[in-house]
Amino acid sequence: MISLRLEDVRRWTGGEVTNLDVGGVVNKLSIDSREAAPGVLFIALPGSNTDGHAFVQDVWRAGGVAMVRRDFPDTDGPTVRVDSPLEAMGQLLRGYLASRQVTVVGVTGSVGKTSVKELTAAVLRQKFSTSFSLGNYNTAIGLPLSFFAGPANTTHFVAEMGMSAPGEIRRLTEIAPPDVAVISTIGPSHLEKLGSMEAIQAAKGEILEGLKPEGLAVLNHDNHWVRELGERTPRRVQWFGTSSGLAGRVLSSEVQADHTLMVLEILGQKATIRLPWLGAHQAHNVAAALLIGRHLGLALDEAVAGVEAVDANRSRIRVVSTGCWTLLADVYNASPLSTQAALDVLKSRPGRHVAVIGDMLELGSEEIRGHRQVGVYALGRADVLLGVGARARHVVEAAQSTGVQAEWVATRDEALDWLLQRLQDGDVVLLKASRGMQFEWLAHKLEERG
Ligand code: ATP
Ligand code: MG
Repeated sequence: MISLRLEDVRRWTGGEVTNLDVGGVVNKLSIDSREAAPGVLFIALPGSNTDGHAFVQDVWRAGGVAMVRRDFPDTDGPTVRVDSPLEAMGQLLRGYLASRQVTVVGVTGSVGKTSVKELTAAVLRQKFSTSFSLGNYNTAIGLPLSFFAGPANTTHFVAEMGMSAPGEIRRLTEIAPPDVAVISTIGPSHLEKLGSMEAIQAAKGEILEGLKPEGLAVLNHDNHWVRELGERTPRRVQWFGTSSGLAGRVLSSEVQADHTLMVLEILGQKATIRLPWLGAHQAHNVAAALLIGRHLGLALDEAVAGVEAVDANRSRIRVVSTGCWTLLADVYNASPLSTQAALDVLKSRPGRHVAVIGDMLELGSEEIRGHRQVGVYALGRADVLLGVGARARHVVEAAQSTGVQAEWVATRDEALDWLLQRLQDGDVVLLKASRGMQFEWLAHKLEERG
C-alpha cells in the first residue's frame, strides 16, 4: 500500500487539515465509508443516490480521516477540507506521480484496454514495482483508488483510460500524464453517446495530446482510425500490427487447447510466446506490451517471461468444460470487434461450433451494420448460431443470408430452453453479448446442467 503524507495531501489539494497532525500519514484511499479505519482517508463523493458526506460521522467513529467539501458543517473529527473532493482525488494522484517521478503507461482503445493493461503490468512487474488499474477501474475515481492500492515503492503505473464522452481521457491524462500512451483499437463502442466514428477517434486521440512531449505512442497500425491519429501526432510513435517494417510485428498467432501460440518480431528480434489466454487477436495486445517493456528497459526475453506469466484467470474468455460440452463464456461486454474475435476463438476449438450471440448495446447509428457484420462473420466459424434479443435479429438475418444455420429467440430464458434441447455432447458453445443481456446467468445455468 502506498502511504500519503498529510502534509502532501494539504499541499497538492490546497486543502485545510483540521483535528489532525499534518506530520502523519494515511495509507489507503476509500470512497466506501464501511472501509473506514485508522489510516484510511475517506473521500466524500456525491453519489447518484446518497452523498458521501452523510457518512462522515461513521468514518470518524471508525478512526478514519474524512476529505470533505469546505462548507461541510460538522467540525469535530479529523478532516481535510477541499473545494471538490472529486477533483482532490485527481490532485493527489497527480501530485504523487510527479513527486516520485513514477513512470505512467496510459492505455486506451475501444476494445483491448484491460488486456493490454494486464499484459503490460505483467511485463513491467518482472523488473519494477508496478501499480495498475484494478479490474476495469478506468475513470477519474478508479485511477487514484487503483494507484494508491499498489505496492509501497511503486515506480511504474499502468493506467487503463476509458471514456464514454469527449474530454474524459483528457482529464485522465491531466491527473496521470503518460510517458507512454497506447491505443489498442478504435471501433464503434459508445457510438450512441459520441455520435460518430470521427468523434470516437477524436476522443481516443486525447491520450496523444496528453502524452508528455518526450513520451512514446504505441499504436495499432492495422486499425485505420488509430493509424490516422498516429500519422498526425508530433509525438514519437512505435507501431504494432501485421505489416512488415513495423516495430512490433505479428508473424503468426494460433489458438491451442489452453493457450495461444504466437510468433512476434519486436524491434527486429523474433520471439515465440505461449500466452495462457485464448484469442489470436491477443497477439496485437502482446506486441504492444512487449514494445513498452523494451522501451522501459527490459530485455526481450524478460518481457516475454512477463507475458507468459500473466494470470490465466484474467482472460475475458472463461473456458468451462462440463461433462458434456465446452463453454466459452465472454459475457462481460460485447462490440462487433470483440465478437468477431470471439468467433475466431470458437472456430479454433474442436467440436460442433454453437455461437450464442446476444444484443450489443450502445452502438448508436452503427447498430444495424455492427450486428449484420457479426452475422456475416459467423460463416465458416459457427455451425449453428442463436441470436438472443431484439438487436440480435440482425445477426441472425445476416448469418442466414450467408447460409449459416441460425435461429432467433427474444430472451435469455428462451435461449436456455433452446440450448438445453439442442446441445449435443462435444459441442463448443460461445456465449457473447453486452453485459446488459446478463449472459453470465446463461453461463451458470449451462454449467449446472452440462
Ligand atoms: P471495456 O471497455 O469493457 O473495459 P476493454 O477495452 O478493457 O473493454 P478488454 O477487456 O481487454 O477490453 O477486451 C474486451 C473484449 O475484446 C474481450 O472479449 C477481448 O477478448 C476482446 N479483445 C481484446 N483485444 C482485442 C483486439 N485487439 N481485437 C479484437 N478484440 C479484442
Ligand atoms: Mg476494460
